[in-house]
Amino acid sequence: MSAEIIDGKTIAGRVRIGVAKDVEAFSQQFGGAVPGLATILVGDDPASAVYVKGKQKACQEVGMWGFNFPLAADASRAEVVELIERLNADPDVSGVLLQLPLPDQLDAVELTGMIDPRKDVDGLTAVSAGLLALGREGLRPCTPSGVMTLLEAAGASLEGAEAVVIGRSNLFGKPMAQLLLNANATVTICHSRTRELAEVCRRADVLIAAVGRAQMVKGDWVKPGAVVIDVGMNRANSTPPTLVGDVDFEAVRQVAAAITPVPGGVGPMTIAFLLRNTLQAARMQRSGA
Ligand code: NAP
Repeated sequence: MSAEIIDGKTIAGRVRIGVAKDVEAFSQQFGGAVPGLATILVGDDPASAVYVKGKQKACQEVGMWGFNFPLAADASRAEVVELIERLNADPDVSGVLLQLPLPDQLDAVELTGMIDPRKDVDGLTAVSAGLLALGREGLRPCTPSGVMTLLEAAGASLEGAEAVVIGRSNLFGKPMAQLLLNANATVTICHSRTRELAEVCRRADVLIAAVGRAQMVKGDWVKPGAVVIDVGMNRANSTPPTLVGDVDFEAVRQVAAAITPVPGGVGPMTIAFLLRNTLQAARMQRSGA
């Protein structure tokens, strides 16, 4: 068997087209106003700078505005707090995103938690996490939301299915598990202390890997016919440098029914859902929610 390749690039493109149409309708409804995303980049980490630039460009492509607020690498807690509070209070700013990771002197969880939950387009505040846990409407973390759309596009049936998520980060693993649970899957979360990891993975109808270890998930970890989603982004030491997932793609594609590639799988979905969240935040603010 050779698995269907789940084409995240094409699916994300469709999401973006939908957002662009909705931004147009939003603008017509609200006298020419458009949603806007403010990113905060502390320091000069080259990878973070590339991500932030990509987010702004994506905003412009769907008719929103995206603007970066840079702070020096040695910015104090007070400086970051002051900027977050200013953006929270600005009615033209629909979404606020604090680019992670932060320099060591700053506490990412504390500072992310200061973003107004109605502008929390990364879905990382305690309010957003709580709404997700309660199954209530709210802003969801972008990558897990994107994975749900990929699963739908792959025709994965989640109702009653065994879903295994490897990784329990606040950014991905925990919200992913929650979304799967809300979709009535039977969910197992694995992490670095999990015993017999391969055996647990072999039970999965839907297997999602978000670990950060290149090609950790082997062909014999996968149940024949499973849907496999590879969230990992690992830089391989090749020339030129390439991106490798957490799944041994060539081996697993022989066993799985469907699989995401790296790159071109989950990655493009994250920005598409950031755009969708920014639009959703703008709508919530206009409706006074
Ligand atoms: P993270 O915060 O470092 O979490 C990694 C998780 O993997 C932890 O829960 C850790 O367990 C678990 N883990 C580590 N080694 C393990 C092992 N040997 N066996 C089983 N579990 C193990 O990372 P993250 O932010 O969730 O990201 C994970 C990966 O996804 C990274 O490669 C990241 O670049 C990628 N990612 C991609 C996107 C995208 O847009 N495509 C978005 C987010 C993340 P403990 O909790 O026990 O330490």
